[in-house]
Amino acid sequence: MTLLSAARDGFAAAFGYPPAALWSAPGRVNLIGEHTDYNEGFVLPFAIGQRTVAALAPRADGLVRVSSAGAAPAGEFPLGGLAPGGAAGWAAYPLGVAWALGQVARRTGQAGAEPAGRPGFDVHFASDVPVGAGLSSSAALECALAVALNEVWRLGFDRARLVEAAHLAENDFVGAPTGILDQSAALLSREGAALFLDCRDGSWSHADLGLGTDRFGPGGLAVLVVDTRVKHEHVSGGYAARRAACERAAAALGVRALRDVTAGQLLAARDRLTEEDYRRARHVVTEDQRVLEVVAALRAGDHAAVGGLMSASHRSMRDDFEISTPELDLAVEVAVGGGALGARMTGGGFGGSAIALAPAALIPGLERTVAAAFRERGFGAPGTFTVRPSAGARRDE
Ligand code: ADP
Ligand code: MG
Repeated sequence: MTLLSAARDGFAAAFGYPPAALWSAPGRVNLIGEHTDYNEGFVLPFAIGQRTVAALAPRADGLVRVSSAGAAPAGEFPLGGLAPGGAAGWAAYPLGVAWALGQVARRTGQAGAEPAGRPGFDVHFASDVPVGAGLSSSAALECALAVALNEVWRLGFDRARLVEAAHLAENDFVGAPTGILDQSAALLSREGAALFLDCRDGSWSHADLGLGTDRFGPGGLAVLVVDTRVKHEHVSGGYAARRAACERAAAALGVRALRDVTAGQLLAARDRLTEEDYRRARHVVTEDQRVLEVVAALRAGDHAAVGGLMSASHRSMRDDFEISTPELDLAVEVAVGGGALGARMTGGGFGGSAIALAPAALIPGLERTVAAAFRERGFGAPGTFTVRPSAGARRDE
């Protein structure tokens, strides 16, 4: 069964009638640029083929009902009463989007912007994005619903406004303090390309990945994901601590954000920072530079350089930012040892997934050696699969 028919059938099973239409948004991997987004720097994600589909129908009353395959039933909510903190569990993601669209509409001075003035809706989600694997299932869900409601509610928002709304939902309604990387990738990506995003002003362009659209593309290269299936308890605490370290470093250097610091300036200011904050800042400052270098290398078709920069990024996250794990380090080490051009953990860290850029012909062997190495070290079996650069959120039918 395809994901689209699963979404349609799931909707009918949950609500007893067919959906009006289907929309979807992709998960993503970040090729490079980790923990740079909230430092107003650069990121380079691409959307993957795995998507979350939202099957939706408007209702005549102001109620919202949300349902998802594999998640607990979430009940019903009056649209007019949505407020941060008003929903627990996974339902906070879709309800947050409905709330945030109203907030953005109000900010932009749209008449009748309040969700209370809109029809309610029933929505059912079906997804093949692994949840909690660092591939951004949360933004896939948010952005699938954001494009759906943009159309059903005739909001007329452009993609940048939808990024703003989905980001607001996750930060203010769900309470997860993350940057705009995930929502931008889900909404702005183009097939075959990475999204080069400046997180300071939100401007973006696409950089062709030159991989072809399948694993045996013209470049002969593929991106392998190794999902370690490990998520450590200190994920959110660790994330908040890294953010705080970056803010302290920027304040000590007298800049608005670490985006404004060069490696040379950071080195010159070393004695104004603790040893640990210095290393945290060094990751961010060098990572921004690596993103720019990867974009230049992609534009020059130099995939060997891209791979080298990915591996340098991993070392920086492992040693300076200290957000890697033994499982991620092993995946990277084995992939590079097995002939990948480069590899790195992707996503916020403390678990989740690693990616490797490798000749497509080597991928089956790499999958086997990574699995064997995990077994040997006594780690749980990882999930491995290739991803292709895919299109952003859209209406499917
Ligand atoms: P990631 O975005 O990396 O997958 P997050 O912790 O940011 O991890 O988001 C995962 C959470 O998003 C899940 O715990 C769940 O609450 C919600 N979520 C994501 N996808 C779905 C889905 N298809 N159905 C229900 N909830 C989902
Ligand atoms: Mg997420």
